[in-house]
Amino acid sequence: MGDDDAALRAGGRGLSDPWADSVGVRPRTTERHIAVHKRLVLAFAVSIVALLAVTMLAVLLSLRFDECGASAAPGADGGLAGFPERGGNASLPGPARRNHHAGGDSSQPEAGRVATPGTPSAQPPSEEEREQQQQPWTQLRLSGNLKPLHYNLMLTAFMENFTFAGEVNVEIACRNATRYVVLHASRVAVEKVQVAEDRAAGAVPVAGFFLYPQTQVLVVVLNRTLEAQRNYNLKIIYNALIENELLGFFRSSYVLHGERRFLGVTQFSPIHARKAFPCFDEPIYKATFKISIKHQATYLSLSNMPVETSVFEEDGWVTDHFSQTPLMSTYYLAWAICNFTFKETTTKSGVVVRLYARPDAIRRGSGDYALHITKRLIEFYEDYFKVPYSLPKLDLLAVPKHPYAAMENWGLSIFVEQRILLDPSVSSISYLLDVTMVIVHEICHQWFGDLVTPVWWEDVWLKEGFAHYFEFVGTDYLYPGWNMEKQRFLTDVLHEVMLLDGLASSHPVSQEVLRATDIDRVFDWIAYKKGAALIRMLANFMGHSVFQRGLQDYLTIHKYGNAARNDLWNTLSEALKRNGNYVNIQEVMDQWTLQMGYPVITILGNTTAENRIIITQQHFIYDISAKTKALELHNNSYLWQIPLTIVVGNRSHVSSEAIIWVSNKSEHHRITYLDKGSWLLGNINQTGYFRVNYDLRNWKLLIDQLIRNHEVFSVSNRAGLIDDAFSLARAGYLPQNIHLEILQYLSEEKDFLPWHAAGRDLYSQDKLLDRMENYNVFLEYILKQVATSYIKLGWPKNNFNGSLVQASYQHEELRREVIMLACSFGNKHCHQQASTLISDWISSNRNRIPLNVRDIVYCTGVSLLDEDVWEFIWMKFHSTTAVSEKKILLEALTCSDDRNLLNRLLNLSLNSEVVLDQDAIDVIIHVARNPHGRDLAWKFFRDKWKILNTRYGEALFMNSKLISGVTEFLNTEGELKELKNFMKSYDGVAAVSFSRAVETVEANVRWKTLYQDELFQWLGKALRH
Ligand SMILES: [Zn+2]
Repeated sequence: MGDDDAALRAGGRGLSDPWADSVGVRPRTTERHIAVHKRLVLAFAVSIVALLAVTMLAVLLSLRFDECGASAAPGADGGLAGFPERGGNASLPGPARRNHHAGGDSSQPEAGRVATPGTPSAQPPSEEEREQQQQPWTQLRLSGNLKPLHYNLMLTAFMENFTFAGEVNVEIACRNATRYVVLHASRVAVEKVQVAEDRAAGAVPVAGFFLYPQTQVLVVVLNRTLEAQRNYNLKIIYNALIENELLGFFRSSYVLHGERRFLGVTQFSPIHARKAFPCFDEPIYKATFKISIKHQATYLSLSNMPVETSVFEEDGWVTDHFSQTPLMSTYYLAWAICNFTFKETTTKSGVVVRLYARPDAIRRGSGDYALHITKRLIEFYEDYFKVPYSLPKLDLLAVPKHPYAAMENWGLSIFVEQRILLDPSVSSISYLLDVTMVIVHEICHQWFGDLVTPVWWEDVWLKEGFAHYFEFVGTDYLYPGWNMEKQRFLTDVLHEVMLLDGLASSHPVSQEVLRATDIDRVFDWIAYKKGAALIRMLANFMGHSVFQRGLQDYLTIHKYGNAARNDLWNTLSEALKRNGNYVNIQEVMDQWTLQMGYPVITILGNTTAENRIIITQQHFIYDISAKTKALELHNNSYLWQIPLTIVVGNRSHVSSEAIIWVSNKSEHHRITYLDKGSWLLGNINQTGYFRVNYDLRNWKLLIDQLIRNHEVFSVSNRAGLIDDAFSLARAGYLPQNIHLEILQYLSEEKDFLPWHAAGRDLYSQDKLLDRMENYNVFLEYILKQVATSYIKLGWPKNNFNGSLVQASYQHEELRREVIMLACSFGNKHCHQQASTLISDWISSNRNRIPLNVRDIVYCTGVSLLDEDVWEFIWMKFHSTTAVSEKKILLEALTCSDDRNLLNRLLNLSLNSEVVLDQDAIDVIIHVARNPHGRDLAWKFFRDKWKILNTRYGEALFMNSKLISGVTEFLNTEGELKELKNFMKSYDGVAAVSFSRAVETVEANVRWKTLYQDELFQWLGKALRH
């Protein structure tokens, strides 16, 4: 379950529920706002008239409006709800792809798509003719003819009827002469547009303007051409709704003292700023912003910068004028209007940090932890990056609903409450870890993302990979004993993403993004987790201190600007060179970022020559038959430059080798010491993003060493060996006993990480077997490996308090892992203990269950005891106010083996009043993990797909999490057929997730057919010994 949290956290995507708020009580509409309604209606009418006029104009000019072909429903946002087609995933990007970053001047928007003036030809067409042919508004990217320099944005927010009025003045530099001003705008009603030349040279007459929904732009047609190298001012007056969905400028609500209160917040990443104001909504168009917000005085307003002045009016309204921002992109601009309260602190360097939340949470102190660590983290990053935090303040805003776990808006980061509020009296270590890592992630973005921004979305992993990697580095700073980067990174990131990236339907970490519809797709686990894993590999082969110096240079060179991956590679290569090392980082990393998947290295001792080894590499794929099916994979033999480290050892001697760079399919190498009794171990501390396989003799030697003295291997290598062996067996690279034999050393294992790795691998093996006849043989074998440690470690007695957290993390997490395995696989004592604790709670109505094992106890209790316990947990789920407790109570309800109760829960999960929107997906997935509920969840998913897809469709990440969560453990021919039939009827929708699901289920079925008997035969023999 902890993994699931980590997954949600790391993916960073929550969900959007377009109707969830509509049940709320709304304040009555006042007269003033009726006037606003009228203005809105009028404004819409004006835009329609304008659109008609321009359409006629366009017809006269023989312009064709329908060329783009994107499907936009009337009134809907151009194509956002659409799903990308599968395709191009598996191939290396072509030359067009590289163009985005080809030039050295990455700070300039590209102007390649629109013809540039001055091309010599016999009869050069005029600029106007060229533009007419090009129809700049049908282009997928802005042309680059105009560049915004500064925005003055004045908003008036009417919270009583959820509308707002805006006036934006944009100072624009004209680079190439043009008669059209094209900028992004969506779902806004434009009332008036004016264009003026700089230095009061007078107005440029506007012929008309229209919105073009297919590309989400506003087009202003001018009567004369704007001239290159001159500046202009664009003024737009518009109205829009404070939306009831979680994108753009939207509303949310909470209940305080029985009364529903509303707040307005923004979510602009990746392409929703255009829903709040017309703007050049691509990350490359950095500009300065000066924002003013007028609102009723009962609310307060927040934005990226502090309030400079507030002007109060007599009628109970106030206008907050915020200071001007530094150069920044639109996607991390933000504002909020709420009646929250706050607590504050100040960093050593004078940055004021405030945490804003609903008043009751602030009073309870639920935000204190986040505030405390944020202060420390700003100090940490300032020291690590040697670049000060750029703004005078940082506000953290805890909101009840948000489409992401959090969003890193510069100076005003927004978090969903469950990812920032923490009540120490009822929170487990995993919850504390979750909250901590989300905060570490978002604060990192203040540098990686906000200060230095990717040029374009194809390299979103540049910011997300870094922020995800730094979750571990930053948490190590806060809790030095936890060894997150060296240890937990493996199970939570590396092992997790290698599962996904080992599929033929994976894609490269840098993905081509052409259309707006592609942008959401790139925010996936490959970007976050593989990005982080590649960065960790890089940091390790460079050496951490050189890597750190390289990052300092990168941030210093590109601050307040944009950078592409080649800018990073160049800076890092320079840092290495200064250190006397010459590695072409771009050449190495291009293979890892532009090719999908990863290699499996096989190391074979040469039997004829001592001290010689043969190293081969091949693309690792779970289902080898998928490789033959996908033509691109079949024809393409991927190669990587692999920084391989090796340890050689025997009973008396252990030595490690320097990095061996492997770049061919097969290579011979000499190593210093290797005889017949010595083992080899590749990928020291599992810092590399690849798997390692050996001949069986070497595997046996490694297992012997583990059993004799496992501490010869590092903690991370023990975890790495377990995960590699399980994955290699799953894919058929190894016989079905090696991974199970490795587990035999676990009774001596006292570290958390190898147990955690084993636990994760065992649960996924378990799901393949749990509906089989001889399943009990498997249970028996696992229980045998767990029993000794379970008895040794025992149960936690008392709840820890905050001060104990640091000291006990490793021990508490180890004990928790072992108890979880014991209870999940049916250890009798564990079951008794859980039942006793639950019964004690029910009879005394005092919850004395230790915090760190509550989820295990609740789940075990619900699965073993009768319906009354389920009802009791259900009741507690409703009455508790602590967000962490609510989550584990809800998950416990999915553990029942009563199919009626599971069905009831599934049906209730879609009621937003009962189950928080972001939790509904978890309910369905957890029911699918329960062998008694797998078919129910699968059926429920198919029956409700239309509803679910409407609900989560736009948050693609949630949709793909749901699809994989419900299907990943299906493993019969019948289920595979159902899945394929189901897909047929929804052709094209969520295609990428569905093809991944089919490949996974096919691999499950294949594994069962080929290897199931082999596994059970070995287990039977092993138990008889
Ligand atoms: Zn992020």
